[in-house]
Amino acid sequence: MSAKIRLYVDHPLGAGQSVPLTREQAHYLFGVMRLAVGGQVALFNGRGGEWLAQVVESGKRGGVLSCLEQTRPLQLPPDLWLLFAPIKKARTDFIVEKAAEMGAAKIMPVQTAFTNSERIRQDRLQAHAVEAAEQCGGTFVPEVCDLQRLDKLLDNWPDGRQLMFCDEAEAGSALRLAAQDKGLPWAILIGPEGGFSDAERQRLKDLPFTHVVSLGPRILRADTAAVAAMTLWQQALGDWS
Ligand code: SAM
Repeated sequence: MSAKIRLYVDHPLGAGQSVPLTREQAHYLFGVMRLAVGGQVALFNGRGGEWLAQVVESGKRGGVLSCLEQTRPLQLPPDLWLLFAPIKKARTDFIVEKAAEMGAAKIMPVQTAFTNSERIRQDRLQAHAVEAAEQCGGTFVPEVCDLQRLDKLLDNWPDGRQLMFCDEAEAGSALRLAAQDKGLPWAILIGPEGGFSDAERQRLKDLPFTHVVSLGPRILRADTAAVAAMTLWQQALGDWS
């Protein structure tokens, strides 16, 4: 059995478990989707897989669902972080949405030397990641972190994590990922509209865990580059192959 409507809930899921709805969720299910008592919804909470649930109470400001059975187990993405310098609002939203759809485990906005924005709305970006997981059938929601400085992040880089450094200065060269690095924790780094400074580039290249990669002969916009880099990584080292 499956339900057409998928909803993320921040609540435990299990056989017979009651799940109270927020006002927004009730509006969506009963006002927009016209669901009534007895109607079915697929629920996930990012931890317990997907559950088929039934409406047992419906109202304008709330409602209650009851879990019937688990329909899918939790499917974790590969251990891949996406580090990117935030750009214009709509393009940053796009990067978060695509990263969640394409299988990032963590999404990390980073401030680089030429990053234009000094602030992000973490809660809004997290909501985009939830929506993307609802749309794409995911059972996991990547965490969207607050903006942090790239240099500080590199100072405290975790042991063993590899870094795919997408460097526009290498556009057109033959640099790519090597298949023997599959199975390790990874991160992808995409720069801002202004690219990386010379000092950043030098530091990144000198780090022992960096793999410099070219995304082809043309300079891509940062949002295009994020999608292209995740495609390359997923195909070479992730869960697409
Ligand atoms: N202003 C920079 C320039 O003109 O050289 C371009 C920066 S680009 C819009 C934004 C980011 O996308 C870059 O910092 C890099 O991470 C990535 N990128 C774009 N095209 C790339 C390519 N061909 N190879 C590697 N990375 C690329």
